[in-house]
Amino acid sequence: MRAVIIGAGIAGLAAALRLSQIGWDSLIVERAPQRRSGGYGVTFGGIGYDAAERMGILPDLRERAFVTEELVYHKPNGDRRFSLTRESIAATMGPRSMNILRGDIETVLHDKVREKAEIRFGTTITAVDQDTDAVHVTLSDGSVEHADLLIGADGLHSATRALVFGPEENYLLDLEHMVAVYMLDKRPAAIAPGTTGTLSSRGRTVAVISVGDGRNVAFFGYRTDRGTGTRADGPQEVLPQVYGDLGWIIPETLAGMASTDSIYFDTISQVVAPTWSRGRIVLLGDAAWCVTLFAGYGSALAVGGAERLGTELDRNPGDIRAALTAWETALRPEVEKKQKLGRRVKGVYAPASPLLLWLTQLPLRLAALPAVRRYMTRRYIKG
Ligand SMILES: Cc1cc2nc3c(=O)[nH]c(=O)nc-3n(C[C@H](O)[C@H](O)[C@H](O)COP(=O)(O)OP(=O)(O)OC[C@H]3O[C@@H](n4cnc5c(N)ncnc54)[C@H](O)[C@@H]3O)c2cc1C
Repeated sequence: MRAVIIGAGIAGLAAALRLSQIGWDSLIVERAPQRRSGGYGVTFGGIGYDAAERMGILPDLRERAFVTEELVYHKPNGDRRFSLTRESIAATMGPRSMNILRGDIETVLHDKVREKAEIRFGTTITAVDQDTDAVHVTLSDGSVEHADLLIGADGLHSATRALVFGPEENYLLDLEHMVAVYMLDKRPAAIAPGTTGTLSSRGRTVAVISVGDGRNVAFFGYRTDRGTGTRADGPQEVLPQVYGDLGWIIPETLAGMASTDSIYFDTISQVVAPTWSRGRIVLLGDAAWCVTLFAGYGSALAVGGAERLGTELDRNPGDIRAALTAWETALRPEVEKKQKLGRRVKGVYAPASPLLLWLTQLPLRLAALPAVRRYMTRRYIKG
């Protein structure tokens, strides 16, 4: 059996690994000219953690996970508001969860997959056709690939989805925020090694994460009802407009854009699709269901969804449609729960008013209290 997988992100690589474990061959088609590196910090837990354990990649992920020594919430002038210690952060996350850079999840998966599947970089899908026996995928290098299954794992702005299901405006739900993330080649002196500093002010958040191994991530998220800039204007133009009045580490963090490899800059949008497959073509990961960073669960769903897809294909030999139906039925409730969570978090993520900010930070302030932390550790970690 053979699959063509569009996209070498977390979902595409995890699918190729799982398919190799059930005896399938895969061709992975990636638009980028080479592997993307870095990326932002994600919390990886839930069904992704369980699936990673079953696929045998948990020790490699754990090796690359990072621990935040302190998470410090600042006032707009840089003064400290309050902070969470390493122990409080662990208590809020629970034991079967880790902080890891998105690019490091990809690295672990890529290291496992590269001997087992061909990855064709600098290539994309241009057309697709299917009949009862196979799917025929035309690629931008002029080749036509024949396979039993086409997996569209090409992210939020999926070309596979556009070709097979229709234009993205039919599926994207704009959550009215923009996000920008990039690696900083220099840690701002005000951020201690291994700590995260963050502030939220009038519909804008900023965070700088020091991973502790010399790598640092800058993160910006803001409400678009502020009326400043669009995705097309680009982060170099928009971010200084949105954040230019703030002091503390913001000016040097913005200056870091000039020397970074790549900047992720996009709207925060969910993908809401009534079905994830058509015949022998299936969408996976953000392409199918993007829950957004508000849910903090997209990489978990990408790995968990890929592993489950392989399991259902293995359980339904020779019947792709039955496998895809069983897979979607099993996964959809978890996805919809996280999409609902993402839409709720949207309202409190970057509050426009100082009072709402104080109220939304209250649970975190409570979690910082030693007595509350001890309770949470007893209740959620030690059981
Ligand atoms: C700032 C931020 C914070 C986040 N925090 C968390 C968190 O705490 N916890 C969590 O679990 N998740 C988090 N997420 C979500 C998580 O990162 C994503 O859900 C996950 O990476 C999606 O993986 P994917 O493989 O589906 O898509 P992507 O990562 O978008 O990968 C798609 C791949 O397809 C390629 N591609 C795109 N178009 C084409 C094309 N036409 N042809 C060929 N290739 C193509 C791309 O180059 C890319 O390699 C966060 C996301 C963001 C942006």
